[in-house]
Amino acid sequence: MAIDKSKLHPESQSIHVGTGAWRTSGARNMPIYQSACYHFDDSQHGGDLFGLEKEGFIYARINNPTLAALEHRLAAMEGGIGALVASSGLAAEFLAFLPLMSPGDNFVSSRKIYGGSGSLFANTFKKFGWKCNFVQPEDSENFKKDIDDKTKAIFVESVSNPAGIIPDFEAVARIAEDAGIPFIVDNTVPTPALFNPFKYGANIITHSLTKNISGHSTSMGGAIIDGGTFNWEQNDKFPYISQPDESYAGMVFSKKFGPKAYIMNCLASAMRDIGAAMSPANAFYIMTGMETLTLRMQKHVANTQKVAEFLDNHDMVDWVSYSGLPNHVSHKNAQKYMTSGTGCVFTFGMKQKDLAQKVVENCEIFRIMAHIGDTGSLIIHPATTTHRQLPEEDKIKADCGPEVIRLSVGIEHPDDLINDLSRAIEKAAKG
Ligand SMILES: *Cc1c(COP(=O)(O)O)cnc(C)c1O
Repeated sequence: MAIDKSKLHPESQSIHVGTGAWRTSGARNMPIYQSACYHFDDSQHGGDLFGLEKEGFIYARINNPTLAALEHRLAAMEGGIGALVASSGLAAEFLAFLPLMSPGDNFVSSRKIYGGSGSLFANTFKKFGWKCNFVQPEDSENFKKDIDDKTKAIFVESVSNPAGIIPDFEAVARIAEDAGIPFIVDNTVPTPALFNPFKYGANIITHSLTKNISGHSTSMGGAIIDGGTFNWEQNDKFPYISQPDESYAGMVFSKKFGPKAYIMNCLASAMRDIGAAMSPANAFYIMTGMETLTLRMQKHVANTQKVAEFLDNHDMVDWVSYSGLPNHVSHKNAQKYMTSGTGCVFTFGMKQKDLAQKVVENCEIFRIMAHIGDTGSLIIHPATTTHRQLPEEDKIKADCGPEVIRLSVGIEHPDDLINDLSRAIEKAAKG
């Protein structure tokens, strides 16, 4: 019997799934199909594709063979039944909510999320009449409080950027299940190399592919992956999926596509109309990067642990917030859910608050960038950059006070990274 490549281990999937082109051309890599549109055999064929009666390619805003290969690889690595890639992580988040939300609806989100997602949820979604109720994720019970009959989803980051908060997935998944709503997990920081949200009750996964998954900061990208486990017909909360769709002559997604109803709606309705398509060249770069994802994540995790321990033992450092350290609020959840590590992003605070900005500027290996998940180590002072527009008290609430430094630890030699930080702190202290 042939090997089912979608059932291989992640480090094999990231190389062997989504490579199909060798069958037609012998090409080792999935080619960049730089083609906006695709031939129909005849009108019947075109009609069948437009009517979603047949699988195939129509127009690159909706689908393209290079994007399909990346979608196939991502779905396999997360253990989902289908995926959709988009032009960025935030585009993917917007597309993920479109099939779920109507004006007047709300959803519950962890407060500890990426700043860009927070702004999308709090400000831009409001323009559509979609309300986000933010809750503190450390206590799972908080996710229950704001749920009413207009609540359509619960959203968390598996490891929050940058504070490293890890929710108790099983507890939050139970709350979503009891409410009859999907549980959405942004799995950007640990990646499928370290954590699979579907194993612990998530129904939908989102990603920024711009970070560790592509790994080399060449390309923007985002993704939605459908676990295929949510029953869209159990209640009348999701009319766009379980009721007739006017734009498809009354077709009902849940009837036509069964477990794939949600991801098909993301593609054939949300992406069709919003058009936040990924470029095929970016899909190619992201797939190339993914081949080393597991290997890179192992090295990122080993280095991050060493750097975090070095800082934790440094007398000029006040605190280190890394879930790999026993004193972190999420250490227990890290041990329960992520036995191979929690990623490469964390924050620390300087005892002398005004030294933080100098430490950042003194680094020579850690580079100053508003980014995470690169092979190279990155450093930033959030209070004067990513969070500079917030009033002082809000900076502190967002864990981005003046003393705070965020790191994204790369895959260089750990001694070079520790030496760089050690020199930078010493130089800052000397003034
Ligand atoms: C960067 C990031 C995003 C947004 O992704 P983009 O590709 O920058 O649009 C979403 N979630 C997390 C956790 C991120 O770090």
